[in-house]
Amino acid sequence: MTDEFNTTVYYDDDADSTEIEDATVAVLGYGSQGHAHAQNLADSGVDVIVGLRESSSSRDAARADGLRVATPTEAASEADVVSVLVPDTVQPSVYADIESELESGDTLQFAHGFNIHYGQIEPPEDVDVTMIAPKSPGHLVRRNYENGEGTPGLLAVYQDATGDAKEQALAYAEAIGCTRAGVVETTFREETETDLFGEQAVLCGGITELIKVGYETLVDAGYSPEMAYFECLNEMKLIVDLMYEGGMREMWDSVSDTAEYGGLTQGPEIIDEGVRENMEQTLEEVQNGEFAREWITENQTGRPVYRQRKQADVNHDIEDVGARLRDLFAWADDEQNDESTEKV
Ligand code: NAD
Ligand code: MG
Ligand code: MG
Ligand code: MG
Ligand code: MG
Repeated sequence: MTDEFNTTVYYDDDADSTEIEDATVAVLGYGSQGHAHAQNLADSGVDVIVGLRESSSSRDAARADGLRVATPTEAASEADVVSVLVPDTVQPSVYADIESELESGDTLQFAHGFNIHYGQIEPPEDVDVTMIAPKSPGHLVRRNYENGEGTPGLLAVYQDATGDAKEQALAYAEAIGCTRAGVVETTFREETETDLFGEQAVLCGGITELIKVGYETLVDAGYSPEMAYFECLNEMKLIVDLMYEGGMREMWDSVSDTAEYGGLTQGPEIIDEGVRENMEQTLEEVQNGEFAREWITENQTGRPVYRQRKQADVNHDIEDVGARLRDLFAWADDEQNDESTEKV
């Protein structure tokens, strides 16, 4: 255990595998996270049962991977730990089906805090409610585990009915490989709000708008779409890779002095105080629940805004130009395409 970062980070030595080795874990869902958690748990010697609807196309995949499969209700009935890894938007309805199967002392386990934090799932007081959230798409959680490596993760305890909710969550984290890399302690509130803010303002929303506005500015000024695509989208990966490896300094040190000077002086002109105020507004809507209410309503009404925005995004010129260019170049290999379809 180390708390040199102002927060506590747990490693393998902090986890006690006996906290989970006698438990039966129901993994509900067999998508990105579900398939990875289920297989890693099973390979770590934990009794796993995958909960999927009778009609689910994932049933065959789970069976082919050597796992027991049942309906979510049957799986939860048998389990001591229920790991809820269906999409966040369907968790409330799946939870309604399994709620009556939760016994005193059982654990409800999540990989994201949305439904608990915004009150869409209200567990009984006598169950533990915990989170182990790998900071990576599921296929990497699985691949890293198989390679003997770990995936960093977050741990949070929302409700500790048994007095050992955290110890059991740590054992779960060890069994899926997260304590090999390090598990950071947080809360459901902090995980949920930072995750939503990050994906909206910086990662998914912020970066795509930055790229599109840059692309449009060049194309509107008469430059070729191909040049604009390379400059604004393709090169983004190279820059992000450098920052991922060595922080912003490694990136600045790797580009030309001209790029460094121009970037340092023009960056704050582009991402100006107005953008900061917009970000503060976005954060406020995450914190006060406005975004959550909007997204819940959106899902209850057939996702009209989602469909419309998605269509406009898919139809943007940069997507056609990019598809053509990626076909022409060898760097767009299968692995890169696989990873680009994963969710943050
Ligand atoms: P996913 O969309 O990849 O998989 C969902 C699975 O749930 C499907 O494969 C299907 O088997 C099942 N499912 C779908 N609808 C269902 C229904 N109505 N009833 C029962 N089962 C149904 O989901 P995911 O991305 O793995 O997300 C699971 C959880 O993990 C979420 O809470 C998410 O926020 C969290 N999370 C995801 C990632 C990621 O990178 N994907 C990372 C960290 C945390
Ligand atoms: Mg049970
Ligand atoms: Mg427990
Ligand atoms: Mg997210
Ligand atoms: Mg350049």
